[in-house]
Amino acid sequence: MSRSSTSLRDFASLSFAEAPKMKTPPPGPESQKILKYQGEHESSAVSYAKGMPMALKRAKGATMEDVDGNIYIDLFGGAGVMAVGHANPVVVEAAKKQIDELTHCLDIPNPTRIALDESLFKVLPKELTRLFYGGPTGSDAVEQALKLVKYNTKRIPMIAFEGGYHGMTAGALSLTSALSHKEGLLPLTPEVHYAPYAYCYRCPFARQPDNCDLECAKYLEHMLEDPHSGVGQPAAVIIEPIQGEGGSIVPPDRFLPEVRKICDRYDVLLICDEIQSGLGRTGKMFSFEHTHVVPDVVTISKALGGIGFPISAIAYKEKLNTWPAGKTIGTFRGNMIAFAAGASALRFMGEHKVPEYAMELGSKALDWLKDLEKSSQIIGESRGRGLMLGVEFVKDKATKKPAPEFAKKARTLCHQHGVMIEVGGHYNNVARFLPPLIITEKLLKKGIEIFSDAVREIEKTR
Ligand code: PLP
Repeated sequence: MSRSSTSLRDFASLSFAEAPKMKTPPPGPESQKILKYQGEHESSAVSYAKGMPMALKRAKGATMEDVDGNIYIDLFGGAGVMAVGHANPVVVEAAKKQIDELTHCLDIPNPTRIALDESLFKVLPKELTRLFYGGPTGSDAVEQALKLVKYNTKRIPMIAFEGGYHGMTAGALSLTSALSHKEGLLPLTPEVHYAPYAYCYRCPFARQPDNCDLECAKYLEHMLEDPHSGVGQPAAVIIEPIQGEGGSIVPPDRFLPEVRKICDRYDVLLICDEIQSGLGRTGKMFSFEHTHVVPDVVTISKALGGIGFPISAIAYKEKLNTWPAGKTIGTFRGNMIAFAAGASALRFMGEHKVPEYAMELGSKALDWLKDLEKSSQIIGESRGRGLMLGVEFVKDKATKKPAPEFAKKARTLCHQHGVMIEVGGHYNNVARFLPPLIITEKLLKKGIEIFSDAVREIEKTR
């Protein structure tokens, strides 16, 4: 796709015409009433509503409106779900049509289900010949991947990465490195080991790009090779080719191929968790496609439901297709609304070259964020690929001491000025951007300007 043809694409009509448009400081009076009810009746674990206090009414494309009539630019995208935009009309139509026909079918086939199979096989590497739709969330896909590799290898140990996030159910949570999520729950699934990720800004081996010899990947090899590493022969290595919740961390392109080589050398399967980075987010359908690596298993969810219908899948190589019928089951494996929405979203992405658009717009956005990094004393690094972007806050650039309070403050200031962002990272000090991939350049630029103003405000008042 030539640069000019993607630039010409116009997604403006998918979003509200005017954004941001703030009528009242959030949370406005109507929002406050609803938040009060939620605070009194729902769990204290509710989180997003505390980071961006408001109650939502409707959404369109890359814009959302709260119940007080404020319109926001959505750079959060439902945690990366909304690739083709809120209420994408093509997807809405497919979902509505499906509701009248068939909504639940477990795994009994029907044309809608096969349409999604075919749409996925069009974008997956040809080596991945089998699909399994598990329960509806990303964590369910990770659980299925875990079961599949353990069943096939008859091995229990797993290797995941520092900074990796794989979900909240027991198996997926045990692969997730953040201790805060596991407090009071350990031990979960036994024998999970964490290898260092290529988090170059905070390289655990104190390397710089000019003297890096992929020590992190070498350490993975050491874990597999040294009989005293304490790591039994693993069923698989699970990796996010670009880390999401860990802080939008993009490893060097040679990292994943090196991990693949090491897995092959030690007869270990490789699972790529593409739940957040997949389906166009990083400028390719799957983020492992930035390299020539083909994983043995891929997990997919989030954007797969088109406009937020819950669905997840794993795709895997033929050699792993050994489960007897009924080996793994579940009631909600066949939500046909989600399947219809997913197939139409994938069609939309292909027809409108959405991943290419995300790549082009994302590289412009990264330039803007890099300019901000240069001019700011509290941004250690701006990074990302496609429209999976992050800005890491530090107390000062020399010590790199993490500044989670600045990330939190940036989210609050952005929200007050009509922009929604996410916070994540090892130290909760990374402002994260996962906008709908169909966001216009104008909206994204405006959103990043508002974020930049927030950064300058924090710098002034710190
Ligand atoms: N894997 C990755 C890479 C994720 O980013 C997430 C969620 O953010 C999950 C798994 C878990 O997905 P879910 O929250 O749908 O269970």
